[in-house]
Amino acid sequence: MHKIPATHPRYASLMKREKLVEGIEAGITSKQGLIAHGRGEAFDYLLGERTLDSARRATEFAASLLLAAKKPVISVNGNVAALAAKEIVELSELINAPLEVNIFYRTEDRVMKIKKHLKKHGARKVLGDKPDARIPGIEHARAMVDRGGIYSADVVLAPLEDGDRCEALIAMGKKVITIDLNPLSRTARHASVTIVDDVERALKNLISTVKAQKQKGKKEGDYNNKENLREVIKEIVNRLKEKDLI
Ligand code: ATP
Repeated sequence: MHKIPATHPRYASLMKREKLVEGIEAGITSKQGLIAHGRGEAFDYLLGERTLDSARRATEFAASLLLAAKKPVISVNGNVAALAAKEIVELSELINAPLEVNIFYRTEDRVMKIKKHLKKHGARKVLGDKPDARIPGIEHARAMVDRGGIYSADVVLAPLEDGDRCEALIAMGKKVITIDLNPLSRTARHASVTIVDDVERALKNLISTVKAQKQKGKKEGDYNNKENLREVIKEIVNRLKEKDLI
């Protein structure tokens, strides 16, 4: 890993790039994952690389859904494993949800490497290496799932998801929570709850929100995802106005 001085104005962003390059070198992340990250970075720039109020509201609702779920499952791809393995494992323990490796550019070697990486970070149950069911209506490798995992889950947390798989999971009657920096992506628009934030920041917030709700208890209040995505765009526009850019 390159040494980046902590005082560098783009320190957090550059460290994420380093983690992804390490992910590629370790055989965890796909090269295409770098391109997907670039799309995310562009949106993070527009957000000001911080968590918006709308993302906090989505996180509150997502936490209450996860805590109320009968069978929550967390889907993990190569970018999530490289960027936020520690956080995703901690969340899985907190809500008692298994992790399931599910990748678009699937090779068995990469699935095993991601599984090992998650185990190294303390994961106890990692599914995805022996898929025995398919999500109806999906042609590519991400259709392959575990019957006792994503296939039968009632709530799926799927950060950095594909739009078509998100739609297919919703069509199966599941609630889908996604984390996606792009408020315009198909995934963002189809999910039950979209947290528009960087995956590492979002997972850290989700962990602290779940902990707080476990203590205080919280009912699932009113939440409208389309309305919340509108708020995201308004917050972006307001920030640009405040900076006198528009
Ligand atoms: P869709 O099919 O939903 O329209 P897409 O084709 O734009 O998605 P993919 O390539 O499937 O996107 O996945 C990348 C998505 O993940 C992008 O929407 C991007 O904004 C988002 N993304 C990339 N890096 C991060 C990150 N670090 N945190 C959160 N979201 C990210």
